[in-house]
Amino acid sequence: MRRRRIAGALDKFLSYQSYALLDDGQTNIKLKKFAEGADLHVEVGSGRGGFLCQMAQLYPDKKFVGIELKEELLISAVEKAAVAELDNLIFVRGYAENFQKWFEEIAIQTLYLNFVDPWPRRRNARKRLTHSNYLKLYKSRMKRNAELIFKTDNRYLYLFSIVELAKFFKVVSSTHNLYAVGDPANVATEYEKRYVAQGKNIYRIICNNEE
Ligand code: SAH
Repeated sequence: MRRRRIAGALDKFLSYQSYALLDDGQTNIKLKKFAEGADLHVEVGSGRGGFLCQMAQLYPDKKFVGIELKEELLISAVEKAAVAELDNLIFVRGYAENFQKWFEEIAIQTLYLNFVDPWPRRRNARKRLTHSNYLKLYKSRMKRNAELIFKTDNRYLYLFSIVELAKFFKVVSSTHNLYAVGDPANVATEYEKRYVAQGKNIYRIICNNEE
């Protein structure tokens, strides 16, 4: 997502106290408290947070966490959560590299990877959020039989990701054209809405964490 630096963005994000977490010594403790007593759903690379806000409204009995490194985008996310008065959604500002530390002793029910950066050059493959190095981190904090749901508009990222995902998870379903197949439970993300409007195919892979 294009980055437009905004002065004071981090402070603004943090001013939404009940929705904003930083990557610091308290992250794990705070997430543990937040996650208590409900199924936990996590989106890595949550952007402007539209997907999670809608999910949190649709599923008030579940809890949702967004991981995002850009505070400029996180401002939109926490604003949306506040307007909707959600109490089951929180955002962490930080790099997915620190995933294991944040989610120590927390068991995730569903993990979402929506329209992550494709990093088309081969030498950047390790930066893709579906690279084995990242999948290993996510898997270590997922429940047995937890789901991982991946969506993209990018054919090359899809082909790369299905191979990577199959190393760690059972691939339950995959489609090259989600909107042709149709899924009434699908919630469109901000990127997804834009790509669908442009007539692009949406690819989706659903995985199960078998053991
Ligand atoms: N899921 C949203 C945004 C997709 S863009 C949507 O579908 O609309 C991908 C997002 O991942 C960007 O906002 C980017 O800042 C974030 N991102 C990229 N690398 C990351 C990392 N290592 N840790 C956390 N977030 C990351």
